[in-house]
Amino acid sequence: MPELPENEAQRLTLERECLNRTIGAVELGDDVTYIELPGDNERARLVGRQFTETRRHGKNIFAGSKTGPWMTVHLGMTGRLIPFDAPDDPPDKTKLLIRFEGDRRLAFRCPRKLGHVRIIDDPDAYIADQGLGPDALGIDQEVFVEVFGKTRSAIKSALMKQDRMAGVGNLWSDETCFQTGLHPETRADALSEKTLCEVHGAMQRILEAVVKTGATYSELPDDWLIRHRRKGRNCRRCGGTIVNAKVGGRTAYFCDKHQAK
Ligand SMILES: [Zn+2]
Repeated sequence: MPELPENEAQRLTLERECLNRTIGAVELGDDVTYIELPGDNERARLVGRQFTETRRHGKNIFAGSKTGPWMTVHLGMTGRLIPFDAPDDPPDKTKLLIRFEGDRRLAFRCPRKLGHVRIIDDPDAYIADQGLGPDALGIDQEVFVEVFGKTRSAIKSALMKQDRMAGVGNLWSDETCFQTGLHPETRADALSEKTLCEVHGAMQRILEAVVKTGATYSELPDDWLIRHRRKGRNCRRCGGTIVNAKVGGRTAYFCDKHQAK
């Protein structure tokens, strides 16, 4: 599932390709029965408008303007925003198509369930309504220590709780544990303040580095977990072995040596 860095890469694509172009039409694609998309009246609100700015909070992407309305996109498991130019056809599995004046188009491609597109008035109100915690790249060290020092669950699961902090999911919680040498099942509220500060620093360094590559994993350092996140692989940091286990219902990958319990 796309997490903060993958969503940030998509936001930057929108920012580069779709700003300041008048919207001519917003259409539904084929087979949209299983996915939440804006209805006729909602879509009509975008027509004649332009996106003049974008935002992102956790795994939510926003495009809109000072006076609104805004479109918010959640990519779900496999969603993707794909700008292209007519006369090219939209990609298969396009669920929503925005036609800008001229040839520019924006497709929301989403082969599986769980993604959505909504039209909203105000991103800040929406973020509050959704009960999302601070964005993982914006949360400062003091707040992080305060929140996670009181979270009574495994550190991996804690980092993924979107109401505590928004943006981190399965991949980057694993990488954060790997780079701080923590077993993913270690209780968050058992960690010292010093360790929580290290977790905070590692997490933000990781997210920033991934954003910098446009979420192209092959460009990340070879000694990161993401490059070898398979059972039985060698750990490039210590020569241990990568293993997996269910933690809070998700499959965690970690090194059996430098992340031992
Ligand atoms: Zn290791």
